[in-house]
This record gives sequence, structure tokens and C-alpha cells, in this order.
Amino acid sequence: MAEDKLTTRSEDFSEWYNQLVLKAEMADYAPVRGCMVVRPYGWALWENITAALDKRFKESGHTNAAFPILIPMSFFEKEKEHVEGFSPELAVVTHGGGEKLEEPLVVRPTSETIIGYMYSKWIKSWRDLPVLINQWGSVLRWELRTKLFLRTAEFYWQEGHTAHASKEEALEEMYRILDIYADVAINEAAIPVIKGRKSETERFAGAQITTSIEGMMQDKRALQSATSHYFGQNFAKAFEIQYLDKNNSLQFCETTSWGLSTRMVGAIIMTHGDDQGLVLPPRLAPIQAVIVPIYKNDAEKSKVMEVADRVFIELKAAGIRLKMDDRENVSSGFKFNDWEMRGVPVRVEIGPKDVEKGSVALARRDVPGRDGKSFVSQTNLAETVNGLLVDIQASLLKRATEFRDANIHEPKDYEELKKVLADGWAFSWWCESKECEAKVKEDTKATTRNIPFDQPEGEGKCIVCGEKASKKVYFAKAY
Ligand SMILES: [Zn+2]
Repeated sequence: MAEDKLTTRSEDFSEWYNQLVLKAEMADYAPVRGCMVVRPYGWALWENITAALDKRFKESGHTNAAFPILIPMSFFEKEKEHVEGFSPELAVVTHGGGEKLEEPLVVRPTSETIIGYMYSKWIKSWRDLPVLINQWGSVLRWELRTKLFLRTAEFYWQEGHTAHASKEEALEEMYRILDIYADVAINEAAIPVIKGRKSETERFAGAQITTSIEGMMQDKRALQSATSHYFGQNFAKAFEIQYLDKNNSLQFCETTSWGLSTRMVGAIIMTHGDDQGLVLPPRLAPIQAVIVPIYKNDAEKSKVMEVADRVFIELKAAGIRLKMDDRENVSSGFKFNDWEMRGVPVRVEIGPKDVEKGSVALARRDVPGRDGKSFVSQTNLAETVNGLLVDIQASLLKRATEFRDANIHEPKDYEELKKVLADGWAFSWWCESKECEAKVKEDTKATTRNIPFDQPEGEGKCIVCGEKASKKVYFAKAY
């Protein structure tokens, strides 16, 4: 598999991505159009993302639960914007056990309705609040333009749903979760995402405020990597989620929802990958280091394997996620290419000369070729490798941040905005009108990504219409 060459990123970024996902055995196409099969290596990466998130959710007071995959159709009709937003994407079950169902059932595209219904039964008093529940699972949104991990009909994710007594608490929750998403993206996935608020056109169906984290991929397109929504009382009113306050008067709850999906796997591939294959951030990599013993005959083999086995035990004991590649039927060169394709951060090579000198060769995946190679002592090797993993993690974030910053422009007028958006992002004043947003989309195919929380002082003039504008926004073509 590693033998036929990968299309390069500059030849065709989209094709590079498609081939890489298959060659690195991350995922495969399912027999049902629009669905994906996540293969063990891709799932292992996803599991590490889920572990990083789940830990943070629990530390901030959330608990996990499981709600059903089937939702009565009538639930969707209770919130007007929600049904309008989702109805083109719904998959509907009309028959069960050979009989036509009395009421059609929707395969969940998201769970606000079913969870809202349950919350209305569970929440009675201010003492029951807040309710902070997350669910891990998959959802189905009918989708025919498939791109593995980025856009598939069924995808895996977590969806958190919370209910609060006050608007302040619900808003605080929305921001708290967005911070968790940004923390995981930046410090675990090494993706320098930007936090901000979505425009009215781009927000979630039924939400009053949608916030997002947005990353820049290597083709300079934006990827919305997670969202956190504030619903106000929209869903509480549709589902009668009410509580008695301290004065014994009946109030509607304020609710939120938030999700991060297997798209994050696609974000990692497109942020860090190179023409040799995946480049995985050490903190999330399923395998952090691979040991490749090198020998030509049985005499060399026994000496080399003795050291390789000892090194394996030592690194494993230090908590490094590790693989020993002692395959006999393939060459060392093949193994190198193979692990490069899979993006393993560090390769530990041990040959007969290393046995004599008490050394090993370390090759870092983020710096290909000779520049990324170092020859180090076997003494304190676990410490050396751990140090290298920390360094690689930091280097990936730095490189991605520099790339992003070099490709965000501040055009001086509309003509320049159009030029910039052909191959980068624009950060511009915007009056927040839908007309100006639509004009940019029509002229350039770029959309507003988010209005970042980090804003310059003062105000400016809308890049499109020239009217007064109080916020700057990121425009970019997006996945
Ligand atoms: Zn304008």
C-alpha cells in the first residue's frame, strides 16, 4: 500500500486527502452511499480525541447518558426553525416489523428534540438545575456529497445538552464548552483554531447564538471544527421545559447544546499531513513511536533484537504508546515509508552499529529526511523520546500557526477582498447585514466563518458597503 505514491498536495489537495485517508487505513467507503467505515487506526485516533474531551467534560461537572436513535416525527415540528433547517436532511423510518408505523420515526440528525422532551419530564424545580448531560454516539443527516470524515451521512460525535435557570448561566456554559473545544484543538490536536460567534445565516437551526472554532487547512480553506449553541428559551417553550423558581412561580429554562465530531480527524489530517502521508500530533497519535530493528543475518538479528526488546520495555514503561515492527517479510525502507504514511511521530532505528556504540537513531516525522534525524545514547532513552514528542507537538502548533497567520489578509477594499479570497482568508470590518454577506458569497464563494471574540478597538467601515461596522469578521471558503 505504501508503494504506490501519494498524489502531492500541490498537484491536487482534495485527491491527496482522499488517497491518504484510504492508504493510511483511517477509513473506507461503505456500501451505502454517504456512509463511512472508520477503520481501527482512524478509530484509535478518534478515541484519543474523545478521551481528551470526555475528561474535560467530566471535570467541569458534566455526565454522560444515552438517548434513543429514533425520534417521533412530530417532535421535529415543534420548533419551527429547527424543522426547517433539518427537514431536507432527515432519514425517516416508515415501517417496522413488516408493518407501516402509525407515526414515522426520524433517525436522529441531532438530539435537541428528544432530549428536550425528556428534560420536560425530569425538571420540576430550581433544585433540579442545571442539568449537564453529554451523549457520545452517531447521527444521520442525508448527504450525498461524501468526503470521508468531513462530510458523511452518518458521523460520530458527542452532543451535550444543558438546561439552566438563567440566561447568564446558559451563556456561561456555551462559552465554557467553546473554551474546552479550543483547548483540545490547540493543545491536543495542535490546530490553532479561532473562537468566535457565527453570523445569523451561518448559525444552527433554532439557536439564538452559535459559536464556533475555525481552523485553516493547508489548502487555506476553513474548517468549522466544533460548535456551541445558546438557544435561549426556544426549545424550552417548544418542549415545555419548565421549573418552579424560589418564589414558586413557573419559569422556562434556558438551554444550550454543543458538539464536536469525527470532522476533527479530517482537520488533523489536513492541518499537518504532508506528501509522505499523515503527520499526527504526539498527544493524540495512536502510536507515538515505532521501533524498527535493522539487521542482515541471524547473528546481527540476535544482537539487535536484544537491544530492541530492552528499549521496547523501557519506553513502554515510560508510558509511550509504542509499536515494535519486527516484520520479517518486508524491507526496512518499506517499513519507514509505511510508518511515515501513518504519521507516527518518532521512529527509533536500531542496527548492528548502534548495538556496538550504545546508540539509536531517532527520526522525527514532522521533519522529513536527514534534518529530522538524530543519533542518541541508549541511556535515558525514554526521557529523550518523551522530550522529542513534546518538541514535535510544539513544532506542529507553531508551524500551523505561522501558516495560518501568513494566509490571513486585511484587504483595503472590496476589489482586494475578492483577490485575497481566491487563496486565503480575509479579516475585515463587516456591517453584519445579510446582503453584504450574500454578495461576498456570490462573488467569491467565501462565507463568513466567525466574528472572533478578539476584536480590534474602535470601529471601521464595512468592506462591502462602506457603512459603519463595529465588528471584524473572517471571510473564507469553507468545507
Ligand atoms: Zn455592509
